Amino acid sequence: MASLIKCSYCSEEITDDSDFCPHCGALYIRDAEIYCDEHPQNKAGGVCIICHKVCCDECGVEVDGRSFCLVHQNVKVEQDWAEVFESSEISDAEMVKSFLESIGHKVLGHNFNSMGFIWGGGGDSPVSRSNINKPVRVFVPIPEYLDAARELEEWRSSQTDIGMDYARIDP
Ligand SMILES: [Zn+2]
Ligand SMILES: [Zn+2]
Ligand SMILES: [Zn+2]
Repeated sequence: MASLIKCSYCSEEITDDSDFCPHCGALYIRDAEIYCDEHPQNKAGGVCIICHKVCCDECGVEVDGRSFCLVHQNVKVEQDWAEVFESSEISDAEMVKSFLESIGHKVLGHNFNSMGFIWGGGGDSPVSRSNINKPVRVFVPIPEYLDAARELEEWRSSQTDIGMDYARIDP
């Protein structure tokens, strides 16, 4: 059985047989040089923490110490959560959150109410609680991001007006 070690880049716990750190994307393959999927002449620099694509300096970027491919470089991540939805409308975000929960995702909301914060043990400061004009943000665990984003997209395209129709369910 694999035992836990600390990633030497981000200090998160990973199993000692990991090929890469799922938290920051650092590669951990020993005894072999790993090359980029897209640019076979380039050595790989890391793994996109969203889609797990192996990237080199040309097709990957590092944001706050974590690796992303160019497709996912703008995905906002906090700890082990990735943002799938952002809105100034709390009601829209509530529906998105309920939808994602109904199909089995773990969901965290940010700035949902006047408390501003329902983070699961996140260690946030009172500053964010006082700022109720921030956009409402919906997060899922990073490993669930790709599925959740796709399902959310399909669901939203089937809603003509997610603000109104969804809430008006005839008894
Ligand atoms: Zn790491
Ligand atoms: Zn990616
Ligand atoms: Zn590359």
